[in-house]
Amino acid sequence: MQVYVTPLGEEETCVALISDNPRMRLEDAWSELPELAARVRDADPRGADRGGVTVSRRLSRLYRGNVILTGDASGSVDAITGEGLCLSFRQAIALAESLASGRLNVFQAAHRSLLKEAHAMSRLLAWLGRHGNVRRRALQVLSRDPGLFTRFLAKHVGQSSAIEFAATGLSFGRQFLSA
Ligand SMILES: Cc1cc2nc3c(=O)[nH]c(=O)nc-3n(C[C@H](O)[C@H](O)[C@H](O)COP(=O)(O)OP(=O)(O)OC[C@H]3O[C@@H](n4cnc5c(N)ncnc54)[C@H](O)[C@@H]3O)c2cc1C
Repeated sequence: MQVYVTPLGEEETCVALISDNPRMRLEDAWSELPELAARVRDADPRGADRGGVTVSRRLSRLYRGNVILTGDASGSVDAITGEGLCLSFRQAIALAESLASGRLNVFQAAHRSLLKEAHAMSRLLAWLGRHGNVRRRALQVLSRDPGLFTRFLAKHVGQSSAIEFAATGLSFGRQFLSA
């Protein structure tokens, strides 16, 4: 499981849990996250817990006639990537451009390439989730060298080049093997 903490405003913070156990609730996570538990223990909940199912899904076709799919309806990545909204916004820009040119196949191609990297990350993170030893070692390397994490994140959100990513991967690999 993972817990995300996101500031929403001066007096409100969002705490979200993602788990592969559908019965797990936030209070079940506190024993593993004592520092976070201590910080939120006295918080005043603004509402009841809400839940959702997350899936990775790809469609072979995104439009027919005058119907075009975008956002999660057009394929989705596991919530573990934190990429759903970003992808939706990028798809919307690609869709607007293709509508302007009247070529929806351009939208479909752009959509496919946007989803490809997010799916690769989703598979990698889910795989790490199932392999505790590798995950612990990887997290150890990233916490020792937070710059590495920042550079991986930049790649994940499309803000670094393939060469920068290769250099980051190499540096990570070296540290992982010697960890
Ligand atoms: C647990 C979880 C955590 C996530 N965490 C993140 C995160 O940290 N960062 C991030 O970027 N993304 C995250 N996502 C993904 C993100 O929520 C989605 O990618 C995003 O909401 C997709 O937006 P959308 O408008 O395409 O679809 P939705 O937000 O699903 O909107 C579709 C809307 O259509 C409505 N609807 C459905 N059927 C009908 C109908 N027949 N008639 C009328 N209305 C209908 C639904 O009620 C819904 O309101 C997470 C998802 C989950 C499940």
